Amino acid sequence: MKRPWQPHDDSQKEARRARLAHIRAWRFFRASLVIAAAICVIVFLLLGGAEGLLRHEAVSGSPQPGDAAPLAKIAAQPQQRLVPDGRPVVALTFDDGPNDSITPALIKVLNERGVTATFFMLGERIEQYPDVALLAYESGHQIASHTYNHKSPLTRLGEQELAREVNDAIGAIRGVIGEDPAYMRPPFGEINRQTALTVGWPMILWTVDPRDWECQNADQIYDVVMDNIYDGAVVLMHDKYDSTLEAAQRVIDTLIEQDWRFVTIEQYYQLYGIDTLPGHVYRGQTEVMLQ
Ligand SMILES: [Zn+2]
Repeated sequence: MKRPWQPHDDSQKEARRARLAHIRAWRFFRASLVIAAAICVIVFLLLGGAEGLLRHEAVSGSPQPGDAAPLAKIAAQPQQRLVPDGRPVVALTFDDGPNDSITPALIKVLNERGVTATFFMLGERIEQYPDVALLAYESGHQIASHTYNHKSPLTRLGEQELAREVNDAIGAIRGVIGEDPAYMRPPFGEINRQTALTVGWPMILWTVDPRDWECQNADQIYDVVMDNIYDGAVVLMHDKYDSTLEAAQRVIDTLIEQDWRFVTIEQYYQLYGIDTLPGHVYRGQTEVMLQ
């Protein structure tokens, strides 16, 4: 039943006013919060935009020899998915480093030419030459794992030893560059299904191998690479021999003349739209079926 209207009880008036004032204050506070959040978003976007502009300038500016770090950092963190541009693609990979002679010299060769590559480094050597590993990373090259100290074959290691080879390498890389590697390369490419599952990391083999460690002859390394290279090749070399350094420089100069596109392993799989999975092994664009 509807109650007849009655005059408000004045004794409640103060309490109502207080409630109203409280509600108004709360609404004001809420509106202020929304406005403050909006301002924060705008400022954030403006800063981000400014950074984008700066980055763009850094990209379009002509890199100086030995001063490729700003350019390279951008290359290390691609903002957009790479797409084919008609040029032949090659991923140069270097194993067994870093060291304090060939690795920095090779990084210089790469940087001076604006070329990116991937270094499958050994954790133990990273701990020995952290500044060289960092130089490679800051120059825009990809740092991946080649285990802690190259124990092989991985398939014969006990569970604990295998875990150490994998985890200590990741720890060494993380300790220098602040992030985990995305890929791992088993020593000599020796891996089987069971070990791959235990490793639990995408593993990357190669498709062109000049066996530089065996011949240690710059002419021969150059010839084998150039005779076997193709669009989509993943080339294996070792940044530990003078002959490899010389051959790599000649290979790169020839490929630049022929307008090849150099990519890191991460860019390679992004370019070909392949999602590499933990515990799976890849040779170029092909997944290796393990026994
Ligand atoms: Zn190796």
